[in-house]
Amino acid sequence: MKIGIMGAMHEEIASVKASMANLQEEQHGDRTYYTGTIHGHCVVLTFSRWGKVASAITATTLVTLFHIDQLIFTGVAGATSATLNIGDIVIADTLYQHDMDGRPIIAARHEIPLTGITFFATDSTLKARARSAIEQLFVAFDQIIPLATRLPFVLTQPKCVEGMIATGDQFITTKAQTHAIISTQPATLAVEMEGAAVAQVCYDYQIPFVIIRTISDRADHDANIDFPTFITEIARYYSAHIIQCMLDF
Ligand code: SAH
Repeated sequence: MKIGIMGAMHEEIASVKASMANLQEEQHGDRTYYTGTIHGHCVVLTFSRWGKVASAITATTLVTLFHIDQLIFTGVAGATSATLNIGDIVIADTLYQHDMDGRPIIAARHEIPLTGITFFATDSTLKARARSAIEQLFVAFDQIIPLATRLPFVLTQPKCVEGMIATGDQFITTKAQTHAIISTQPATLAVEMEGAAVAQVCYDYQIPFVIIRTISDRADHDANIDFPTFITEIARYYSAHIIQCMLDF
């Protein structure tokens, strides 16, 4: 059993890498792949890169060159749902590509050409393992991220939800962009730039996968936070801890 781990932040790759044993690295297609073990499980860790094409190339390499059996993806995302705050975590149960529109050649908005698929579903076992890892993260929250570090982000009682994530080749920053997304798929909780592309690769190769996203911003930019500081001081520790717990089985 070999587990692929993709992260969308350099900082989380560094944190997860630090916890790996038997570390080796390989270069393919201008990307670095770290092989090794975590809790005795064989893993291949890599930075996803940003955007659908780049992350699909990375995922395809993990599947075809490294022969992974399952894939865990972590990163940050913008909230499109008013119920989500910075520091909350979304485990995707389905993902779609909000910038895909093949009409009139393809009947439905967001449907992926030649597949008949609009929504890609994550694996239920990996999802359950992610949820339990996140519950453990929140229980040990004070030890992992001190209150003084969290306060500037008004991060006291984060929550974990499961739901729909939208992916597209745009960093979403305006109310108009957010409205356009939720008016076509009202159940969308969060938006990012890689998840549904990685999901499409996993679907084609029948690899069970899960996508886990920490909310780093409100996609309509109602709340302004220091994005780089949030990633270096908060989000990277979330990811490293979640991966550690998920592989402790
Ligand atoms: N870490 C970089 C910024 C990365 S932005 C920095 O420090 O400057 C790109 C990443 O943020 C992608 O992985 C994307 O999926 C995610 N992301 C976070 N908020 C987003 C939003 N509002 N819209 C789209 N992608 C978002």
